[in-house]
Amino acid sequence: SYGPAPEDSGVVRDWLKKHEAGFGHFIDGAFTAPGETFDVMNPATEEVIAKVSQGTAADVDAAVKAARSAQKDWAALPGHERAKYLYALARHIQQHARFLAVLETIDNGKPIRESRDIDVPLVVRHFYHHAGWAEILADEFPGARAHGVCGQVIPWNFPLLMLAWKVAPALAAGNTVVLKPAEYTPLTALALAEIVREIGLPKGVFNIVTGDGETGAAITGHPGIDKVAFTGSTEVGRLIRRQTAGTGKGLTLELGGKSPFIVFADADLDAAVEGVVDSIWFNQGQVCCAGSRILVAEAAAKRFEELLRRRMQTLVIGDPLEKSTDVGAIVHPVQLERIRSLVEQGRAEGVTIHQGEAPAGCFYPPTLATEVEPASILSSEEIFGPVVTLTSFRTPEDGVALANNTRYGLAASIWSENINLAIDVAAKVKAGVVWINCANLFDAGAGFGGYRESGFGREGGREGMGAYLAHPAPKAKRPEEKP
Ligand code: NAD
Repeated sequence: SYGPAPEDSGVVRDWLKKHEAGFGHFIDGAFTAPGETFDVMNPATEEVIAKVSQGTAADVDAAVKAARSAQKDWAALPGHERAKYLYALARHIQQHARFLAVLETIDNGKPIRESRDIDVPLVVRHFYHHAGWAEILADEFPGARAHGVCGQVIPWNFPLLMLAWKVAPALAAGNTVVLKPAEYTPLTALALAEIVREIGLPKGVFNIVTGDGETGAAITGHPGIDKVAFTGSTEVGRLIRRQTAGTGKGLTLELGGKSPFIVFADADLDAAVEGVVDSIWFNQGQVCCAGSRILVAEAAAKRFEELLRRRMQTLVIGDPLEKSTDVGAIVHPVQLERIRSLVEQGRAEGVTIHQGEAPAGCFYPPTLATEVEPASILSSEEIFGPVVTLTSFRTPEDGVALANNTRYGLAASIWSENINLAIDVAAKVKAGVVWINCANLFDAGAGFGGYRESGFGREGGREGMGAYLAHPAPKAKRPEEKP
């Protein structure tokens, strides 16, 4: 019986109605009165569903001040006390799981099956996991301390999950946060602020300022911010790197990708086809680590393409709230136009495009591009949509060379029944995350992050925890381990 029922969308609609006048920011434990607002829409219906405040420099300043005045006491709590709050957050998110899943789907357009079975459970897991870290932090990172106030700016593709990735380790370490959700999808962050109030988290520890890139820049550039964590486009990542250079602020950047999906001739091809579905048609391909370049061994290329094209035809595209939907709406018409334009540029280059029909509106069909050269725009540009290229290779060395022929280095997926080959190739592919015979699997206990233009720093795992601490010392040696 787990999972949204039709009445859940009624509950979400009632909640949106209650906030019809507009949402304010969440600063110092309370919502501000709405200021100048912008519209937030449901991309599947293109209806305006909420009005959200455009954060000003003064709003950011107030949030940073609140975070600053709360930080000392928050960091002074013993780790197990901070853990109690994180456990409470995890439990309350679980209690509101159905509401949050429906709200996420209405705001972002992703299929309810994904927000219900992937996004929200991973959010919960992230808070539980980092509650555990808060308890053992003093032992695991002796001498380390919190940075202070963290400024966090996140994208729209996994709104609540990206928030969890940023907020859970920050709070576990004793930092306080000022977070800005993406302007397309701010609603689950605001709903989380209500949950934060519900569990009685001390005022000022968690602050949300909504708004666009200007608000984001006011956060990342604020002198009262000690550490910046950003997930989003490589272009904006570059701006933030410049803006924070020489300021002494800590910085982690999670940026774009153009990840290879490598299939060897001895792979279980049916499983690899399902891997493609999970890799590029999950969340409409709006995934930074999406396997957007299939590289398949020549001997299996024809068969693989046939299987893949057959599977593509069975994907259900449409109403994201419908439980049988595989592919939902693209987050915003601007993003839809970007995907269309890139695919048309590929077509003009002579690439063969295979795609079915999509419903009218903000939808784009699963798309396979074949006869595609490594120099094609479709092979090099991050499309951030349900579009995958297919290229064949002769030898494993050629496969690795094609895989590394990118300015990014976020993820890779390798398919082979020969585990020695898979491990050997994994070591040669320049990517922060490599999956073997699977794709797009995430866990709070595993570090995630990239090389090259995919950014730097890790989120999740020990490395991710360390990124929220200033000068983390290496783990203390036990007396018997003395050199
Ligand atoms: P974006 O960079 O335009 O926006 C991301 C966030 O940054 C938004 O909240 C936005 O308001 C804010 N922002 C914009 N300009 C800013 C500025 N000058 N200073 C500070 N903040 C600013 O990206 P997007 O369109 O929201 O997201 C899509 C991109 O994000 C893709 O390129 C994708 O690859 C990347 N992404 C990466 C990861 C990862 O973990 N590596 C995860 C998700 C998305």
